[in-house]
Amino acid sequence: MSGFITAAYISASILFILSLGGLSNQETARRGNLYGMLGMLLAVGATLLSDQVGGYGLIAIAVLIGGSIGWFVASRVEMTAMPQLVAIMHSFVGLAAVLVGFASYLDPDVQYSGIDKTIHEIEIYLGVLIGGVTFTGSVIAFGKLQGTIGSKPLMLPARHWLNIALGVASIYLGFVFVGSADHAAGLVPLSIMTVIAFAFGVHMVMAIGGADMPVVISMLNSYSGWAAAAAGFMLSNDLLIVTGALVGSSGAILSYIMCRAMNRNFFSVIMGGFGASGGSSGVAADQGEAQAVSADEVANMLAGAQNVVIVPGYGMAVAHAQHPVSELTQTLRDRGVNVRFAIHPVAGRMPGHMNVLLAEARVPYDIVLEMDEINEDFADTDVVLVIGANDIVNPSALEDPEGPIAGMPVLEVWHAGTVVVLKRSMATGYAGVQNPLFFRDNTRMLFGDARDSIDNVFRAL
Ligand code: NDP
Repeated sequence: MSGFITAAYISASILFILSLGGLSNQETARRGNLYGMLGMLLAVGATLLSDQVGGYGLIAIAVLIGGSIGWFVASRVEMTAMPQLVAIMHSFVGLAAVLVGFASYLDPDVQYSGIDKTIHEIEIYLGVLIGGVTFTGSVIAFGKLQGTIGSKPLMLPARHWLNIALGVASIYLGFVFVGSADHAAGLVPLSIMTVIAFAFGVHMVMAIGGADMPVVISMLNSYSGWAAAAAGFMLSNDLLIVTGALVGSSGAILSYIMCRAMNRNFFSVIMGGFGASGGSSGVAADQGEAQAVSADEVANMLAGAQNVVIVPGYGMAVAHAQHPVSELTQTLRDRGVNVRFAIHPVAGRMPGHMNVLLAEARVPYDIVLEMDEINEDFADTDVVLVIGANDIVNPSALEDPEGPIAGMPVLEVWHAGTVVVLKRSMATGYAGVQNPLFFRDNTRMLFGDARDSIDNVFRAL
């Protein structure tokens, strides 16, 4: 049986690697998901067959309850609430690592001595530490994405010193833990460190400014992977180690890509340095008047245009406007208009958010371009439709060196002939920064829910 389990674990690892490979491209993403599901089925099946696993009745009840809740929640979740769901899932991984750490430490059947004991205790300590930070950090990220916690960064006085003090205390407690004579003595430093890890997770994510949340989400994704890998070490489960390391490293790569896309220094983001600097938010009052436009006028502009670029943002997801947008695109293309989509790396509320929506609405992949591929083309564009996007087209990122989003690359739509912004009001975006684009001479505001506005333009066309 153990040979079969090893073979199943290796196959599952390969399927997970193939899954990640598939997910890196839209055309192969479905296949990637399928590989992932098969890998997980194989992994769970093989684990259940292992000698160390008993109590099938309890496992069946747990799977039934957990599976039903998961099924219920996932089938009902709106596409706009997906990021929150992902964040809360990460928190479960973190909590599981904490619980596995304590269980593994207190398990009377686990007996190590000498160097093995030290290694096992270090694994437990690190697993609980990473798991604790992941748990509370993800819960706060959930709150920030859900809107229950404001997106403004919490700037405690001497916050860097606080972080350093928490770090030093964790290292000291680690030595006390590993050097402790018995479980009763070791439980004290382990428990205190768990509370510190929880506090650090809360503080770390609370200090992140709105526009830097994407980096934090992918970083927590990475942490959840390392927490799972640490649990794998504690349980001596190779598959969990491999899977955790895959999630951990792919999350780390994604965080790096996000940081580069947003022109951010990774460590500054984690330490809460960005998103918080400066108090300038380009208040609306000193910007002049925004010019409203009607759906009929927008239809006229589109009818006379040769090159159109559509910039989707979070508001398109909220309004479920992707299907009407797809129809409008098709109609314009049938009339010979060159229509393309410009996707900012942090548009929406999760990496790839806009790509998923556009793929769902069957927009052809070849007209969906990344920011770097299209940013130079705005000067040759007649009309840009900004649909429910705000921060990602904010010129103050480039023009206001003191602002909270300073330095973040944005889609430079203002170089186009006319920019039409579809949104409901003059409200700010996720980063809470006023957008000078709305007050430019060549910008027109089409107020209303994005779906209704697109329907109206479509009808007028
Ligand atoms: P923003 O949040 O900046 O702006 C969205 C705009 O959509 C709002 O200004 C809102 O204005 C408008 N809107 C909302 N609902 C509707 C509706 N029903 N119809 C029309 N408009 C609507 O979104 P962006 O996509 O431009 O930028 C993403 C932001 O989210 C960035 O700051 C990014 O850092 C952050 N973020 C991104 C994550 C990611 O991984 N992609 C994760 C976490 C945060 P109004 O209320 O006036 O309608």
